[in-house]
Order: sequence, then C-alpha cells, then structure tokens
Amino acid sequence: MARRIAVLGATGSIGTQALEVAAGNPDLEVVGLSAGRRWPELVAQAQASGARRIALADAASAAAAREAWDGEVLEGPEGLTELIAGSGADTVLNALVGSAGLGPTITTLAEGIDLALANKESLVVGGELVMSLAEGTGAKLVPVDSEHSALLQLVEAEQGQRPGSIDRMVLTASGGPFRGRSREELEEVTVEEALRHPTWEMGGKITIDSATLMNKGLELIEAHHLFSMPYERLDVVVHPQSIVHSYVTLADGAVLAHLGHPDMKVPIAYALGWPERSLPGHRPLDLAEVGSLEFEPVDGEAFPALAIAREAGREGGTAPCIMNAANEVAVAAFLDGQLGFNAISELVARVLDEVDAGPAASFEVLVEADGRARAAAEQVLAG
Ligand code: NAD
Ligand code: MG
Repeated sequence: MARRIAVLGATGSIGTQALEVAAGNPDLEVVGLSAGRRWPELVAQAQASGARRIALADAASAAAAREAWDGEVLEGPEGLTELIAGSGADTVLNALVGSAGLGPTITTLAEGIDLALANKESLVVGGELVMSLAEGTGAKLVPVDSEHSALLQLVEAEQGQRPGSIDRMVLTASGGPFRGRSREELEEVTVEEALRHPTWEMGGKITIDSATLMNKGLELIEAHHLFSMPYERLDVVVHPQSIVHSYVTLADGAVLAHLGHPDMKVPIAYALGWPERSLPGHRPLDLAEVGSLEFEPVDGEAFPALAIAREAGREGGTAPCIMNAANEVAVAAFLDGQLGFNAISELVARVLDEVDAGPAASFEVLVEADGRARAAAEQVLAG
C-alpha cells in the first residue's frame, strides 16, 4: 500500500521538490498540502498530485481557493491542525520556514504520525519538547536537512558496532557566497549577493542564514537534539563543493562520510521512504569527475553567528528560541534593506543579551519567549 503523505509548505523550495519526488514514485500518495498564501500554485499542486485537501494560513487566500476549486480548503492555524490530524497521513513533511513550524511539528508527533522534518527551526526552538514527544508517542522523526540525513545514515551504518564507537559528528558547510571575506569586507555586501548561494538553491531565509553561517549554527543545535550529541563532540568544517554532506569520526580513528551531489531530492526521498531506500533515479557520484574536494576551518571572526548559536545551544532552555526569533527578525530586516549584513549577528547577540532565558517547559513558554525576543529585536531596529 502506498504511503500517504501531507506536505506542509508545499509551494516552497523543499515542498515543490518533495512533490516532484512523490510524482515519480507510486509508493507515495499525496493526501494534503499547505501553504501560506500562494493559493493558485497550491491548487495547481493539488490538482497535479491528486490531493483533495489543502490548508492556507491566510483566510483571504483560502476564500479565493474555495471559489476556484472543488476540493476541501481549510484555513488558519486550526485548518493546518485539521489537515495534519484529519487527513489520514502516514507521514507529514514539515517544510514550513521559521518558528511557525513548531506547532505543526508538535501536532504531528502528538498524533503519533511520522514526521519528515525539513523545518529545522522546530528543533532549534523546541528540541527538548519535540524529541520527548517523539519518544513518548513512538512517532518517527526523520530529518530532511542534508547534513542530518547524512548523519542519520552514518549512525545507521554504524549500528551493530559497540555502542559509543562514534566519537564526533562533523557537519560540513559550503561557506556560502562570502567564504574567504573578512568582517570589514562583509560590511557592504548587498541582499542580491547574499541571495546567490554557490551550491544550493533554497528559500530566501535559509539562503541568508547560509551566508551568515547561522544556518550551520541552527544545524548544530538540530544535530544535538536528533542524535543526543553533546556540543563538545559536534564540529563544523567548511567544504565548498557540498559533496561530503557530513561525517563521523569513530573511536578507532576511522571516519565514515556521506557523499553525493548537492540535491535536496535525495534526502527528501530518503525521509519519505525511510527506513527503506526505495527511490531510485538519482545521478550517481563520480569522484574522478569531481576531481578534488576542499576543506577549511570556519572563520569565526568574519562569521560570528556560528559561535553565537553554539553558545545559545549550550545554555539551552529558551536561549535557542530567543536566538532564533531574533535571527528571523534580523534576516527579514536585512532582506528588506533595513539592516546591514554584519548587523544581523550583532542584533541576534544583543537580543540574547537583553532577553532572559529560562527552562523550555512547554509550548506556551516557547511561544512567549519567541514573542518577547521578536519584540526586543523590533525595538532595537526602531531605535
Ligand atoms: P521556502 O521559503 O521556499 O518555503 C516555505 C513554505 O512555507 C512556503 O510554502 C510558504 O507558503 C510556507 N509558509 C511560510 N510561512 C508560513 C506560515 N506562517 N504559515 C504557513 N505556511 C507558511 O522555504 P524552504 O527553503 O523550502 O525551507 C523550508 C524549511 O526547510 C526551512 O526550515 C529551511 O531551513 C529548511 N531547509 C531547506 C533547505 C532547502 O534546500 N530549501 C535545505 C535544508 C533545510
Ligand atoms: Mg543543511
């Protein structure tokens, strides 16, 4: 029987690639789709994939979709909850962007539905809550982020070994469009330059996060929660070709690495098919053709966001939530032309300094901390 999937954030970069993966695979049946407001695209996706239910965050967009299409159109946060819980999905792919993804992640796991998770902010903001919910309900949480998909596969490859044989996990970072530049040189970079990622084509928010290296900081926190790995045993190395997607070092000095072309359809297909690797059709990697692979350390002075994130992760509780919210406000302000590139990490550091963190006891506590951090960031921007 086909696996029934619902795709949240279907009109985005990950969402559209997930629908391409599903279209080429008879083992996947699309039962629900969601988006923010772009209803014509969402309706077209529903028609193409055969989904009979969609949810739009924006009420006016939902009303317009209802006029144009005879399927079921849900709206708002309740509509998204209903799409997740009431569509009979076996797996929900969460490809929303930002902390708005946390609620749907929690709903999915609380319903005992397996989660293919692209929305890394869910784990950054609510990692403890999310992982304990998955454990409690038995729902599977499979990461879509390429580094974490690689790490999961490496952990699986290593299983059967003596427990504890994985010593360190090392996430690779492309270094983004500004690799090699100094902090001074970064002062004047434009939005257009920052949006030109060398190896991955992605949504705007993650592309800016990749340019500041905050993306790798978010991914450190994501890895910490997914693999229960202490921060002291998590490293980052810059690898401009994005061919090695991450590696683990073992207690005997050996290294296991995961390699492939940079193509998000591969980790998307892996997460949707997990635990089976049943989705063929991707271009094999020819290392002779690739020729050489380069690696270098992160320039922590030019890209302070990585250390800021590591520190917030170490502090734990609501600190990563506060950091994430400040970063979302800062990235939006940068994209809007209100803030310079270096000011993104400065704003994040300042908000972390000003807003008190505490235990991340519940979803409500996280929503409140997210709101306080956004308000503090807006205040700095206005002042
Ligand atoms: P995107 O901006 O291209 O798409 C986001 C989607 O979410 C859109 O469909 C949009 O309509 C929807 N959306 C946005 N805000 C919403 C809201 N408040 N309510 C409901 N829907 C909303 O983003 P993306 O690049 O596809 O990234 C999605 C997630 O996956 C992010 O967390 C990102 O960090 C992660 N990720 C992306 C890539 C990539 O290659 N794009 C790789 C790894 C991880
Ligand atoms: Mg990644």
